[in-house]
Amino acid sequence: MKNRGYYGNYGGAYLPEILISTFDELERAFETARDDPSFRQEYADLMASYSCRPTPLTFAENLTNLFGGAKIYIKREDLNHTGAHKANNVMGQGLLVKRMGKKRVIAETGAGQHGVATATMAAKFGFDCTIYMGEVDVMRQRPNVFWMEQLGAAVVPVTDGTRILKDAINEAFRDWVTNMETTHYVLGTACGPHPFPAMVSWFQSIIGMEARDQILKIEGKLPKRVYACVGGGSNAMGLFSGFMDDPVELVGVEAGGRGIDSGMHASRLCSRDASPGIAQGYKTYFLQNSDGQMKETHSIAAGLDYVGVSPILSHMHEKGKARFESATDKEVVEALKLTMQKEGIIPALESAHAFARAFLEVPSLSKDDVVIINQSGRGDKDIFTVADAFDDPKWKQFIIGKAKEYATPGNCSGVPIGN
Ligand SMILES: *Cc1c(COP(=O)(O)O)cnc(C)c1O
Repeated sequence: MKNRGYYGNYGGAYLPEILISTFDELERAFETARDDPSFRQEYADLMASYSCRPTPLTFAENLTNLFGGAKIYIKREDLNHTGAHKANNVMGQGLLVKRMGKKRVIAETGAGQHGVATATMAAKFGFDCTIYMGEVDVMRQRPNVFWMEQLGAAVVPVTDGTRILKDAINEAFRDWVTNMETTHYVLGTACGPHPFPAMVSWFQSIIGMEARDQILKIEGKLPKRVYACVGGGSNAMGLFSGFMDDPVELVGVEAGGRGIDSGMHASRLCSRDASPGIAQGYKTYFLQNSDGQMKETHSIAAGLDYVGVSPILSHMHEKGKARFESATDKEVVEALKLTMQKEGIIPALESAHAFARAFLEVPSLSKDDVVIINQSGRGDKDIFTVADAFDDPKWKQFIIGKAKEYATPGNCSGVPIGN
């Protein structure tokens, strides 16, 4: 254990002895790169040519008129390559891996989005790539597994324990301990042992830096509030980083699931169901019982469905530096529908949490105020979940048709049945 990497009481690096030198190497590589203007430039150039940066800041004129309060702007992280802010982190780590001279990356993934982003980065940089995924998640997330494999990654289904994300994390650490000379572990969010929370937040800070410049250019003033959804906390840290020293209210929105009182949620900072603890190599608020057993979590958005949260956000929460709220599955689906119909934009279910909370609050702000909502990703990936939530009969028919097509001998040609 080290003193570095603490944010008040949270953070740290609780590591097995064998990994300490690898973490030291990573910390040195990150700090050297961060302080090197040529690295920053290399990162900016890569993100501009490969991931559409700077992403636009879109004025949501129709939603603004509908609510009649503050002007709503949307930071368009959905326009990144692979459809979310995750690209900012994985491409940054890819450049670091190149600097460290390593040739292989591993990652764990639950919903599969981070696995797809990592496999994409590995293809671009020519690294070997292994993705660990709980066996249950492999079955649930076939489309993402399909793409990871097409991108050249080996996807390893983890059959230990409950066969979900936390089991995949354990397996990825086991791999790292065995192969640390050649391998880098690409952590997907601003969690885990130091230096990951600091490093991932630094790569994601490109969101907030751009947003601040953009809003000053467009409106000539700072926003009153900025909103971001909070899973592990990386897109929130990214947006908030741009406004840390400004009189801007930072609002993080967690998964309220079926409601905070139902216990079926993933709200660590705005419910009373979480408490500080040490797990997975760092200290933060975890959804755990009094024995330190992790609780079941639920969210309609797989990317927010996580027991821990960034130690940096835990600290900001305690200091009152950011405000944390939640949005329920139901509110999120309504916000998604409204955003699609009014703006022609399809936010990811994760991002729609930030939209839902902002929609509740903007009507009571002044027309002179401005807010920014971070659209962390695009919603195309959620078609199965959203079509279910909307109970769309034509979609159901389509799925049943597909199933029949595969079940009928001699009809596996991919030619749709019926019309
Ligand atoms: C993964 C993901 C999230 C959650 O991760 P954070 O680290 O909290 O940002 C949010 N939105 C989208 C679109 C994601 O893919």
